[in-house]
Amino acid sequence: MRVAIAGGGLAGLSCAKYLTDLGHQPILLESRDVLGGLVAAWKDEDGDWLETGLHAFFGAYPNMLQLMGELGILDRLQWKQHTLIFNQPEKPGTLSRFDVPDIPSPFNVITSILRNNDMLTWSQKIRFAIGLFPAIIRGQKYVEDMDKYSLIEWLRIQGIDERVNTDIFIAASKALTFINPDEVSATIILTALNKFLQERYGSKIAFLDGAPPERLCAPIVDYVTEKGGQVRTSSPLKRIVLNEDGSVKHFLIRGLNGAEDEIIEADAYVSAMSVDAMKLLMPEPWKEEPFFQQLEGLEGVPVINVQIWFDRKLTDVDQLLFSRSPLLSVYADMSVTTKEYYDPDRSMLELVLAPAQDWIGKSDEAIIEATMEELAKLFPEQIPHVAKVRKAKVLKTPRSVYKAIPGRQAYRPSQATPISNFFLSGSYTMQEYLGSMEGAVLSGKLTAQAIANKKVPVRKPSMAKGEPTFVG
Ligand SMILES: Cc1cc2nc3c(=O)[nH]c(=O)nc-3n(C[C@H](O)[C@H](O)[C@H](O)COP(=O)(O)OP(=O)(O)OC[C@H]3O[C@@H](n4cnc5c(N)ncnc54)[C@H](O)[C@@H]3O)c2cc1C
Repeated sequence: MRVAIAGGGLAGLSCAKYLTDLGHQPILLESRDVLGGLVAAWKDEDGDWLETGLHAFFGAYPNMLQLMGELGILDRLQWKQHTLIFNQPEKPGTLSRFDVPDIPSPFNVITSILRNNDMLTWSQKIRFAIGLFPAIIRGQKYVEDMDKYSLIEWLRIQGIDERVNTDIFIAASKALTFINPDEVSATIILTALNKFLQERYGSKIAFLDGAPPERLCAPIVDYVTEKGGQVRTSSPLKRIVLNEDGSVKHFLIRGLNGAEDEIIEADAYVSAMSVDAMKLLMPEPWKEEPFFQQLEGLEGVPVINVQIWFDRKLTDVDQLLFSRSPLLSVYADMSVTTKEYYDPDRSMLELVLAPAQDWIGKSDEAIIEATMEELAKLFPEQIPHVAKVRKAKVLKTPRSVYKAIPGRQAYRPSQATPISNFFLSGSYTMQEYLGSMEGAVLSGKLTAQAIANKKVPVRKPSMAKGEPTFVG
């Protein structure tokens, strides 16, 4: 089967990879000149990588690890010490660690919490542990049911101390979803906690050893093309053209730089675009369908990635850090964590600014100034008087992963749709890993399986270049 996929993020690439494994020929069409979507990166005028986002991989990412294993690139993950590190705003410049011992789960994570005396008192820890029992014992069904509550509401119902929220959950919520606990669905945080508690190395963090387009996307492209698939960049889907029965007749690809638009015909069609792009390109007749109407309940959340190059080393911490600052979420010194960015003498901090709603419209200068004010609290001995900024870049994503507010699980669509030859892929579609790289990879795999299972009618070969009629 020939399958046209619009969107070259991790979901589209994973879908193409698993389709080739199932013996099909994908043709992947990405609108931009770079693959990766939310993991895309570009080189600037100095040859430095600019990334859409700081990306951390977790031990609890089985589909990502399987994919990288199948591509023979697992050694590109640089695993860090099993620890979660938080800044302590009340003691500027100091860090608090949750060191996870190498013993079976969930005792490893529980021990790390019990051993940390910087952030929680004993009574807070015990109340927190008791509050988590229902999620551990009653499993995923309970976790899904909690989608009706925001995290803050759920914490109150469980009688968990407000201090646990300010110490841990604001940081976790911002890191996982780019929104605060009063907005985020309890399901999101409970899902992540469950994975971390159930798997021995679930909360172990790795960094890719370089920029995702080269180190992760390129091997997928090689794999797909070696098996007869095609991957094209600078090929934006302009319109989904329908047959009279509402099925897809062809994808119309916008011709760039004066070129003519191009018709792409296939046996099956996939949108691996973000939910926001899919809504914009939704054909009119589909808008009547309840299945497609549910997408109206989903939209991308704004987030900003900031990269700052310094004239000296600020830290030697080889790990992701939770800033616990109101402006920033997680950050890392990429000159320490990431092989391709190694620099023994000078730091390059990559920082995620979230929630970004109030900042997305502001100038780069204002964003950098505000970030530097926060950094002065994280590195009081070096900033602002000692370390000098060599260069700073801001990358805004006005609509990134779907905004995971309460009630959204009901709006997340399956990969198969009511249209016989049309499928969805993307981390926003229904899969158990939320809006993450793991979720994107899993969704792509599920889409490939849905196409194989649905027995999509194959076009008559002679019709491949003409009017596509479908045979049963
Ligand atoms: C700042 C930031 C930090 C993050 N940190 C982490 C992290 O630490 N760990 C983690 O697991 N996840 C993280 N994520 C989330 C993760 O990046 C995403 O969940 C995942 O990459 C989404 O992949 P996707 O393929 O579903 O969607 P996308 O990456 O959005 O891909 C959609 C693709 O469709 C293309 N497209 C759009 N319109 C068209 C069109 N008309 N025609 C053709 N193509 C089109 C887009 O250009 C894009 O390439 C982060 C995201 C951001 C933004």
